[in-house]
Amino acid sequence: MTKSKRATASLPEAPGARFRLPRSESSVLTADDGELLMGHTERLLCAPTAPYAEDAALAVVESFAAARPTLVRRRDPHGNLLLTWPGNGRTSKAPQLAFSAHLDHPGFHYRGMRDGRRRASFHGGVPLEYMVGGDVRFFDPKTHAACATARVRRAEKRPDGTAMCELSRFRGRARRGMFGAWDLTPGRISGRRFRGRVCDDLLPAAASLALLDLLAERRHPRPVTAIFTRAEETGFVGCVGLLRSGLLGRALGDVHVIGLECSPRRTTAKVGLGPVIRVGDGRTVFDPAICAHLQTAAATLAKKRGGFPVQRALMDGGSCESTAYNLWGVPAGGLCLALGNYHNTGPQQTIAEEFVDWFDFEGLLALMLEAASAWPGPRQPPLRAALNERWQKEYKLLAASARRTAQT
Ligand SMILES: [Zn+2]
Repeated sequence: MTKSKRATASLPEAPGARFRLPRSESSVLTADDGELLMGHTERLLCAPTAPYAEDAALAVVESFAAARPTLVRRRDPHGNLLLTWPGNGRTSKAPQLAFSAHLDHPGFHYRGMRDGRRRASFHGGVPLEYMVGGDVRFFDPKTHAACATARVRRAEKRPDGTAMCELSRFRGRARRGMFGAWDLTPGRISGRRFRGRVCDDLLPAAASLALLDLLAERRHPRPVTAIFTRAEETGFVGCVGLLRSGLLGRALGDVHVIGLECSPRRTTAKVGLGPVIRVGDGRTVFDPAICAHLQTAAATLAKKRGGFPVQRALMDGGSCESTAYNLWGVPAGGLCLALGNYHNTGPQQTIAEEFVDWFDFEGLLALMLEAASAWPGPRQPPLRAALNERWQKEYKLLAASARRTAQT
């Protein structure tokens, strides 16, 4: 056994995983589509990730694309990936639809020794008091293999704003450039609840992969793109890079985006009550026409299925890339899952798995598929047509009373 293999073999065992569909009648997908979603979820969530270290997650998306030559694959200079289901190739004046999810999650970069202590910087929004005592597993970004484990002994904010952690119980081999993730299960289903070290945002990214498969299966006539961005957790850095690169306009022309997220649950958006049509985030409100399109899609699903659990809320517990898209002139709306233990902040200031409701997640995919199938929808918004119809019924009363009010 080589020295490095011995070091890795001596690491504490990683937490186990359980990727299996819950047994329940509440599913909004067929059993086959549920399995498809679970398969993509397992492959993506087993990939460790951190801001600027999305290599393993990108590799999963790249191998997905390589196995599906019909998809058009584009990569910008910053490593963001676009996969487009091309449709039937006919050109249309209508704007194209894209879904966007990010491949990173708050995590560590190993920084070596200082004053006899090993250190790692932390990237992403997690309060320092939660980090102390948290277990970390470090990975090699090239091989994606685990190479060390440690525990956070101390955490402090540096004057330049970075969070720096002092590590204890270090085991394994320190390598240049290795990155760390909380040492939690990649995914575990229990009842209808799904827990994992990263729900935000690998679950929605897995839904995007499933969506591309379902569009291909249906030979969907219009193009639909899935965007996979990097480094969202440090200020939409990957997404802003993509917008600044101009690739979206060059490749897709006029494009509208539905940002996909896991967002902290609210009193108005609870875990288990369906996917959330996100009308805005902590900073901005989203494109009204896209919000309306999503509401129409949810209503269509409810009609088809005799009910479809869905929520509609301002998810202001965080902000998301839809804000960046809108600021750069790309109209964007949002869909999300109500998330528990946001950014791994568990009870009593401990680090814990994020969690969602599996059937909310299936509902998210069903809603994405319906929104894509119905895109771009009627030229006149259905709500305006409904208000016009109401006007036709009521205007005589309005006109008669208008005459009277004019006389007084
Ligand atoms: Zn996110």
